[in-house]
Amino acid sequence: MNRIFSFLYALCFFLQPFVSDAAEVVANAKPVIALQPLGDCSAKDIEQAKMGILALYDCEVKVAPMVALPQKAFYEPRARYRADTLLDFLAVDVKLGFDCVKIDGITQKDISFTKGEVYDWGIFGLGSLDGKTCVISTFRLGAGKADESLKMQRLIKVINHEIGHTFGLEHCPAKGCLMQDAKGMIKTVDGENGSFCESCHQRLEKVLRVK
Ligand SMILES: [Zn+2]
Ligand SMILES: [Zn+2]
Repeated sequence: MNRIFSFLYALCFFLQPFVSDAAEVVANAKPVIALQPLGDCSAKDIEQAKMGILALYDCEVKVAPMVALPQKAFYEPRARYRADTLLDFLAVDVKLGFDCVKIDGITQKDISFTKGEVYDWGIFGLGSLDGKTCVISTFRLGAGKADESLKMQRLIKVINHEIGHTFGLEHCPAKGCLMQDAKGMIKTVDGENGSFCESCHQRLEKVLRVK
């Protein structure tokens, strides 16, 4: 009997390093951000969005197969999709088939939100503060006859801004900070330097490594 116990003990002792190695691998795994194309999206936009996220956040990005935009989010009078309904759709209806910490929807269609007195205000993106979902639209990123390179810079800034909201960052008054409130103006987006100010950076570092 004693021999069985000592064998089991020896076996446990032998297995123990492997168990803790496995636990360490899980602990060191990077958080996954899912990119969810909503309706047709250009492969180039998706690739740029992915590279832009990876350049700023220490995470893994998984691109999910496209799902159609939900009809319930369509606001017919302006032919736009309501961004808040899209966030609910991403959180509740979309089944990714893999685990992730955030889901970022991306669409070519115009999206909107209620801003003060204006019921349907067209926006670049929307992120739920300290939540799981955000959504961005490429529809307005060509404003001012922007060339491809400028459009891509804008896409990356908008996407990283909205992801910042989901990690708990609010709008920031610091000039050039990625978390400035664009207030619907592409000029503000163009004036951002694509990274966080010291204060936003420090706040974010508490929940996620930033490059
Ligand atoms: Zn914002
Ligand atoms: Zn800031």
